[in-house]
Amino acid sequence: MILAIRLFTFVRSSPDMRKMRVRFLVSVLVISSLISCSLKKQQEDNHQTSQHTCVSIREIFPGAIPFNDYTDSLLFFLYTVHNIPKDKILLAQSTCSDDILNTKNSFINHKVKGPFILGGLGGLPFTGLTGYNAFAQHVPDRGAALVFIGPHIGYSKQAGWGRIMREGQLESTSCCGATSHVLEKLQRHGILTNKQPEEKDYQEEVIEQLALKNKDEILNSDKPLITFTKLIYKEAERQITNMPLRKSNFKFLIFVVGIVINTDPTDPDYIWVDHMAIYDLESERELRIMEK
Ligand SMILES: [Zn+2]
Repeated sequence: MILAIRLFTFVRSSPDMRKMRVRFLVSVLVISSLISCSLKKQQEDNHQTSQHTCVSIREIFPGAIPFNDYTDSLLFFLYTVHNIPKDKILLAQSTCSDDILNTKNSFINHKVKGPFILGGLGGLPFTGLTGYNAFAQHVPDRGAALVFIGPHIGYSKQAGWGRIMREGQLESTSCCGATSHVLEKLQRHGILTNKQPEEKDYQEEVIEQLALKNKDEILNSDKPLITFTKLIYKEAERQITNMPLRKSNFKFLIFVVGIVINTDPTDPDYIWVDHMAIYDLESERELRIMEK
């Protein structure tokens, strides 16, 4: 109908007016076509760079998948196999304080409760026994405590491992900055043995001592930042699983242990899961462990 009215108006207009309208129409078509081509090219470029990022990440972390895909699959699995609905899950995360961890890859969009933040710099569980038990007391009755242990590392297609572009910035920055800084200090032998961490930089100095304890393994590695990041998730898991839990009313205790791989803004973040474990606290059974 609108088209018919426009056609009628066009036929009844003066020749000059018709010329103007034809020119206008042609201009609109040309501009639309240019925009469409440009968008298509941009989509193709993005697809190619995303492919490149995915291949590069999987060379180092085989089986890594976009974080959101993993979250969807995990929650689907917990519901369909173990009948655990999202609203009965409280998430605790032992991940770094870096804002990037809540920018692209959060569990929050998936409507689980939380997160209760266990982690500080690097992803070590700085809240300790008190924090872990506080989290446990907050889990819905007969619900699930989901503990995600995941230090992070950046991958930028321009700048490589250990760096990412952040939105609103023109230069890449280090990721994880805390871990990278400690590594750099370890490599120049700047970490003091048995130094008590000081209040002004407590968390970073705890990571320094962890690096020093594993100095040979880190410095002899051909990918020292990746080796160091893996040591951090092992240490975080060791600390958390050694913390005794007070009696609580939840049914499942779930651990997901791995590494978060942050990327540039145009790519999704990834997760590499080393292993996962589910414990049924009522029947005291370990239901399933998924190794990578
Ligand atoms: Zn970090």
